[in-house]
Amino acid sequence: MNPFEQSQLQFSRALAVQDISEELRARLSEPERQITVAIPVRMDDGSARIFEGYRVQYSSLRGPYKGGIRYHHDADLNEVKALAFWMTLKCAVANIPMGGGKGGIAVDPKKLSKRELEELSRGLVRALYPVLGPERDVPAPDVNTTPEIMRWMADEYQKLTGDKRNATFTGKPIDYGGSEGRGEATGAGGFYVFQALHDELKLPKKISVAIQGMGNVGANAAHIFTRAGHTVVAMSDSKSGVYAPGGLDPHAVERYKKEHGSLAGFPDAKQVSNNELLELPCDVLIPAALENQITHQNAPHIRAKAVLELANGPTSPEADDILFKKGIHVIPDILANSGGVVVSTFEWEQNLKGERWSEKAVHEKLHTLLTRESKHIWEKARKLKTDLRRAAFVIALERLEEARKAAER
Ligand code: NAD
Repeated sequence: MNPFEQSQLQFSRALAVQDISEELRARLSEPERQITVAIPVRMDDGSARIFEGYRVQYSSLRGPYKGGIRYHHDADLNEVKALAFWMTLKCAVANIPMGGGKGGIAVDPKKLSKRELEELSRGLVRALYPVLGPERDVPAPDVNTTPEIMRWMADEYQKLTGDKRNATFTGKPIDYGGSEGRGEATGAGGFYVFQALHDELKLPKKISVAIQGMGNVGANAAHIFTRAGHTVVAMSDSKSGVYAPGGLDPHAVERYKKEHGSLAGFPDAKQVSNNELLELPCDVLIPAALENQITHQNAPHIRAKAVLELANGPTSPEADDILFKKGIHVIPDILANSGGVVVSTFEWEQNLKGERWSEKAVHEKLHTLLTRESKHIWEKARKLKTDLRRAAFVIALERLEEARKAAER
């Protein structure tokens, strides 16, 4: 099953719990627009190469398309469609005035020089700028896209359009119109969701956490959980992971990876593969890397009490059922990792209004919003006697239905 098929299966499973109008069902079964572009880059060795880029504008029912741009060698249109569909639901779950979109380039950015990467990033904007804009489509960072890349994109957009509001791209560096708190927003948001549901999940006061992936999302989550007094027992990158039941110092793990290029040989910890990490004993498992990590094959072996999905689409529908039967709550991506798009939307709002909010103000707003929506989803799941993913889908679909009806009036 490709990620888009997986997302559509989740959609039909939610419809079995609560139906929606035929019109909305049809509108959400395909994106409003999907674009594939060819981006030429002059490589450092003098050769010319073409990279394939994608932008999927899934739904504008609730506002401008919003969603990150991923640089990954496996990126393809089906993956970007799935991610754009999830963004549509995520923005509705968070109740922010945004639709859903996503983008990507099929590239391994580690194989490009900085100059090549900048040319590629600016090239993507040159190919797409007529369909972007603060009221149309507002891209953000995702896997392998950094604040510096977002700055190149925002700069290219301003050069091409003369639009100086700087509100078309989010996740920019702070000194270039970015928002305080955006860097750690996804990890922090996941933590606020966890806090809001902590008592319902019947977890101990201080928990142990295993985290797959230590990029923007996974590393920030590791720091935030550690600062709050919880114990991070496992971390991993794309190659391998480390496990220490007594706890890891996330700063030391990050430093080691920076110095050695991998986690191999990290002292006083057991080496584990990414698959082994998922099956370790812990209170909360946090997938923070890529899709389709928890499947029908490993779900029976998962020992965590809850899964906090900071990655998009890490759990297959079959695995959802297995975990639900085992009494393991899966806090779904469209709630758990929505902190990123929420603070991206704060950034967009600040840019449009010419304001700068303090880090404290950003976190307070994010905390209030995610606490409210987490409790709302928990109540919905209890009322419908279903899992949290279906409950989150139902709430998102109710809001999308309202928007559809309002547009008809
Ligand atoms: P990133 O590029 O900063 O980091 C990705 C991490 O995953 C890296 O540590 C990488 O080594 C690891 N990784 C890559 N392939 C892997 C594999 N096969 N197995 C295990 N680990 C692997 O990306 P990110 O921004 O941290 O995004 C991580 C996830 O969170 C993605 O699913 C993304 O869509 C999702 N997400 C990101 C944001 C955001 O604001 N950046 C917001 C919402 C959701």
